[in-house]
Amino acid sequence: MNLITQFDPWHSKLCTCPPKLTFNPYTGCDHHCVYCYASSYIPKFHICRPKKDLIPRLKREAARLKGEIVSISNSSDPYPNLEEKTGLMRKCLEILTKSNCKIQIITKSYLVVRDADLLRKASSMVALTITTEDDNVAKVIEPNAPSPSKRLKAAENLISKGIPVCVRIDPIIPYVNENAENLIRTLAQMGVKHITASTYKLKLDNWKRFSVALPKIAEKLKPLYFEQGEKIGGYILLPKDLRLKLMKTLSMMAEKYGVKFGSCREGLNHLNTASCDGSWLLNMQKIALKRT
Ligand code: SF4
Repeated sequence: MNLITQFDPWHSKLCTCPPKLTFNPYTGCDHHCVYCYASSYIPKFHICRPKKDLIPRLKREAARLKGEIVSISNSSDPYPNLEEKTGLMRKCLEILTKSNCKIQIITKSYLVVRDADLLRKASSMVALTITTEDDNVAKVIEPNAPSPSKRLKAAENLISKGIPVCVRIDPIIPYVNENAENLIRTLAQMGVKHITASTYKLKLDNWKRFSVALPKIAEKLKPLYFEQGEKIGGYILLPKDLRLKLMKTLSMMAEKYGVKFGSCREGLNHLNTASCDGSWLLNMQKIALKRT
């Protein structure tokens, strides 16, 4: 089986991403986010381990790339805590930045800054997931991930080096982080040009963790998901009118602060003001590099 594969091979109706490839250097993730749904389909998800024969396989597959976007990663974080010791993601980037592709990184880790020198050599962008600017809230919902303060510093650092940054406010959870105006203002002031947002997609697997970590909020959310929610593709989503209200509020705030907006897997494409995943920023990097 290939390491680099087609992103969304099922052509899900909800996905509006441009055609791209996906690559996960690790199987599983050690960030332990309560809302993570990858843990529902990847065995032993919380035991993070590198892919078998990662580097030689990647070398072979990278040689065949023809300018595609490679999105790293969509089923795990490419910078788990383990990466600090292994340095494997850096080795992968050494290979990919010499091959013919565009690189989109999706992470919650400041460790990506370590590899900025490599990212500057290729067409690249970083999507940092920042669900809240409150370190205490993050400690509950993303217990092993780097704090939002560190992620904000990472965003600032990357932008200062000419690497475009998109921020994923993902997932939006009612009663937890739906009031994101302060965060969006901070991001806009920092030079973030795109925000992608998505609501919490419930699976029974993540709901079990969520109910233990946030029992009072789980009680409030129960009727919204289990009585009024919408079942789509194996997930339970909030009722559509509520999702529309949440996403519309965010898109209006993004517009207010001059930031592009994309909703992710919500069926609300009319709210998007640029490609939903922020990949339009890949073209902006060339301009940034020419100026620096
Ligand atoms: S960082 Fe992403 S993949 Fe890792 S646990 Fe959190 S949501 Fe799941």
